[in-house]
Amino acid sequence: MINEEYKAMLGGKSVIRELSEYATARGKQIGYENVFDFSLGNPSVPAPQAFTATMEDLYAHGDPIAIHGYSPSLGIPEFKEAVAANLNRRFGMDYTADHIFPTTGAAGALAHAFRAVTEPGDEIVTFAPYFPEYGPYTAGAGLKLTVVPADTTAWQIDFDAFERALNPKVTAVLINTPNNPSGAVYSEATLRRLAEVLEAKQREFGHDIFLISDEPYREIVFDGGTQPYPSAYYGNTLSCYSWSKSLSLPGERIGYVAVNPRAHDAGILVPMMGQISRGTGHNCPPSSIQLGVARVIDQTSDLSVYETNMNLLYDALVRLGFEVVRPGGTFYIFPKALEADATAFCLKAKEYDLILVPSESFGVPGYFRMAYCIDTEKVERAIPALERFVAEEYG
Ligand code: PLP
Repeated sequence: MINEEYKAMLGGKSVIRELSEYATARGKQIGYENVFDFSLGNPSVPAPQAFTATMEDLYAHGDPIAIHGYSPSLGIPEFKEAVAANLNRRFGMDYTADHIFPTTGAAGALAHAFRAVTEPGDEIVTFAPYFPEYGPYTAGAGLKLTVVPADTTAWQIDFDAFERALNPKVTAVLINTPNNPSGAVYSEATLRRLAEVLEAKQREFGHDIFLISDEPYREIVFDGGTQPYPSAYYGNTLSCYSWSKSLSLPGERIGYVAVNPRAHDAGILVPMMGQISRGTGHNCPPSSIQLGVARVIDQTSDLSVYETNMNLLYDALVRLGFEVVRPGGTFYIFPKALEADATAFCLKAKEYDLILVPSESFGVPGYFRMAYCIDTEKVERAIPALERFVAEEYG
């Protein structure tokens, strides 16, 4: 006997991964430079030189026992202290090292956050459009995922719909800002109102509702803006972060959960995450990467290319008549498709070697996502292909 649940999941693979595999295969036929692959959110800029230099130095001069040895089960103190100090300075928080739990990327952070503050069978609420992996992430923790319909005007929160989704079984709310796929940056007003609703519902239901805030794109914000820090508005918040995007390190699998010191049971949530790791077989991320990131904590990759690409695409899409909200951050844009069936739209685009992701798996029909973490030169060459596609198919 093999596990039926995981076997069934083989039939429902990630649409994004499948499109990315198609793009790679097509690239072998016609040259990858000729495939306008907007499928995958894999950073296109290198990690900063300071990170490489730090790792070289660690490997050349560090103590091999410390670099390659087991991390303490709750993380390396130097890493935890660096994260706490960084968040306190930037967002006026008062974390100590004890509030920080290192994880394998944001995915690992979310896995620990869900399990720490919910029980299997609870409901967790998120907002469309949302990262499709939230399906398996929450199912794996035994949670029922309830999706609040999108605010398609600005990709903020439809608060009437949100309040309707809340009931006593809801023990956690999952947000992602800056948002994949919409590129929206939740405003201070949105975060304040979210906190007010959650405070009121906690009182009404007589139990905690934790806010789990997924923030891998925290530093990718355009027009010189910054992302207001969700945890600063609501005490019961677990912030889930990763350096997959800001330092271009997705393959290194490094991130953390930061437990708001004002959260209920804040003092034991990180130790509990250590216990969760024992059951899931997850251990802390590699010691070398914890040490490396701790030493470049104030750096990012050169993220400016994403803003350049966004402006090129946004202007072209508007010129071509697409309905599209200008992204405030990330490296995604989420226009409305030119026909109701977004999958049909994206299939037609494939004929022009434009690899676009239809929106159904993000919980909103009729849109498509473009991941523009690609070279600017390729974005520029994609625009005539987009023009031809629109003119020939929808002109
Ligand atoms: N959450 C969101 C919204 C993402 O877009 C991603 C990755 O693309 C993740 C979580 C997973 O991040 P990581 O690769 O750091 O685990």
